[in-house]
Amino acid sequence: MNDLSRGEFFGAGALAGVAAAAIPGATLAAGPPVTLKIRWYGGGVYELATPDDKTIVLVDAWIWNNTGFKAFGIDKPAELSSAGAYAAYLKGRSPEAVIVALTHDHSDHIGDYFELLPALVGAGLDVKTLGQSDLMRAGLVPKFKAAGLDPTQIVLNGGNAINIGGSVEYKGARFEMVPAVHSTFAGFPSIGFIIDFAGTRVYASGDTDLFGDMALIGTRYRPALAIVSAGNGAFTMGPVPAASACKLLGVSHAIPVHYAHNPRVLGPECGELFRAAMAQAAPAAAVSILRPGATTTLTLAPYSASA
Ligand SMILES: [Zn+2]
Repeated sequence: MNDLSRGEFFGAGALAGVAAAAIPGATLAAGPPVTLKIRWYGGGVYELATPDDKTIVLVDAWIWNNTGFKAFGIDKPAELSSAGAYAAYLKGRSPEAVIVALTHDHSDHIGDYFELLPALVGAGLDVKTLGQSDLMRAGLVPKFKAAGLDPTQIVLNGGNAINIGGSVEYKGARFEMVPAVHSTFAGFPSIGFIIDFAGTRVYASGDTDLFGDMALIGTRYRPALAIVSAGNGAFTMGPVPAASACKLLGVSHAIPVHYAHNPRVLGPECGELFRAAMAQAAPAAAVSILRPGATTTLTLAPYSASA
């Protein structure tokens, strides 16, 4: 890099800072904290649920084939071990809606998707899904059809889903799509989500590296909780940049995921490495380290769209 390009780089960075400060952002609502349940299925895949299980959100769909339990020496629970058992398990919790939010098409995120969706539909659940709009209305259409699913029925927005900056709401859960710095097999953008439900706001990073516009995501959306990829190795940012991401986002609570599910990423130690990095980068934020299969109830700052 010569002197001129370095100068342009710093100039652009300063401008970006001004722009971020000038953009009207969300504000956190006043009021008592709210609770949200999270259950980690391994790797970058997890479930969010309201305390009464009325709304269940799955972020990605790799469950019975998920290899994220082994490194912890934990046996995968029976209800996570097959499509049929899982559909019966969700049905037994009597949710009003199950929404599957797909971040991208890598196999450790989409691996069980086309077995999951028909199993949930077959169990009589109200199931909807969303992902990046071109992936949903072009890339995956043949696979939806092969699975016996009509994408115009099961994909939100009549089969179109949403694109970056767009949003959709279904039965009390609102999703807005945000960028991620990652890739996909099919070439469509890999993304993250801002998810409003249970009275709070969650940033689900999806697979990503650290990027500067996480500061803008923080200013613009003010998420209370960030669930960030932290596994390092071959595919995403590691615990230290993931903690830097949480600092840029300004969240009050953070959870690392996308580790210990294959030998090319960090193992179970990633959780404590992330906690240590957060103590340096964002010491005021709470950190929850999950165990595969365990459900954790989180206490989070409230969010109101009208605030
Ligand atoms: Zn990926």
